[in-house]
Amino acid sequence: VSIVDLEEMTGRWKPAVAPNAEIEPYGPAELRSAIANGELVNYYQPKVNVQTGAVSGVETLVRWQHPVDGLVFPDRFIALAEENGLINDLTRVVLSSAMRQAHAWQEKGLRLKVAVNLSMDSFSSVTFADVVSDAVLSAGVAPQDVVLEVTESRLLLDQRAPLEILTRLRLKRFRLSIDDFGTGNSSLTQLRQIPFDELKIDQSFVHGASRDNTALAMYSASLNLGRELGMEVVAEGVEDLEDWDLVRRTKCDLAQGYFIARPMPASALVEWIAAWDRRLPQLVAAS
Ligand code: C2E
Ligand code: MG
Ligand code: MG
Ligand code: MG
Repeated sequence: VSIVDLEEMTGRWKPAVAPNAEIEPYGPAELRSAIANGELVNYYQPKVNVQTGAVSGVETLVRWQHPVDGLVFPDRFIALAEENGLINDLTRVVLSSAMRQAHAWQEKGLRLKVAVNLSMDSFSSVTFADVVSDAVLSAGVAPQDVVLEVTESRLLLDQRAPLEILTRLRLKRFRLSIDDFGTGNSSLTQLRQIPFDELKIDQSFVHGASRDNTALAMYSASLNLGRELGMEVVAEGVEDLEDWDLVRRTKCDLAQGYFIARPMPASALVEWIAAWDRRLPQLVAAS
């Protein structure tokens, strides 16, 4: 058996490609017109209560429905938007579409908290808090039903503008969430300055943590910190039954991840909830 046959059998064989071949990056002009032409679509991923299984809300995750390349994930265009002054336009489009959707769900009697990811690059202009609240209020949604997620590694709580904007948003009754917690370097002092409502433990400390002492230590420390500071704690990256058992055993508040649901188009949500309700009795049975 040749090396190639062996590699093929073990699944490691790959067709020949140029060394260091990379996917061609998108350019700012292409992204700008995609934003303007409505090529961005919102997907939604549920966050569920770990003890009862109740669906607490959904996180909005943007995708680019590219006319040629198909569905493109945000890791290929968020930084591009940030670096080219397009992030505020992108946020506006994602936010207003999420709010229209939230309102439509409410009309159907489905009261879900809807979370939207915000880029720290938007936190330099003091008018940003008004931009956000105008988009929410004009859709007929209450700020209490909206969660604003900001990634911990990008938080600049030693600077005046972000601190002021977060405070303004909190005063307008939005729920503030600190995302990917454990991957940044916020000091405890800084964390205390902003009344975050929610802390999301990064998926790298959740998935597989029951078999990894270092991850488990980070998971437990983050969970306890969130609790002590009075925040609702979300475990991200709950991918399998072991992860689900861990979050239940440790009494984390909310869970999100592939084990529960993949991000999906809005149109799939109602059907997913019905399927989740059927699956639930086994998942929340006392163990
Ligand atoms: P995030 O906010 O931390 O979102 C969670 C990411 O983890 C999502 O990736 C989601 O699809 C993925 N995920 C969910 N469950 C699991 C799981 O069980 N296992 C694993 N391995 N992954 C899981 P996605 O949608 O590719 O988004 C990546 C990041 O892009 C997001 O991370 C967020 O930081 C950013 N992003 C997404 N949408 C927006 C947006 O509208 N605006 C901004 N500024 N950033 C966005
Ligand atoms: Mg997020
Ligand atoms: Mg995250
Ligand atoms: Mg992330």
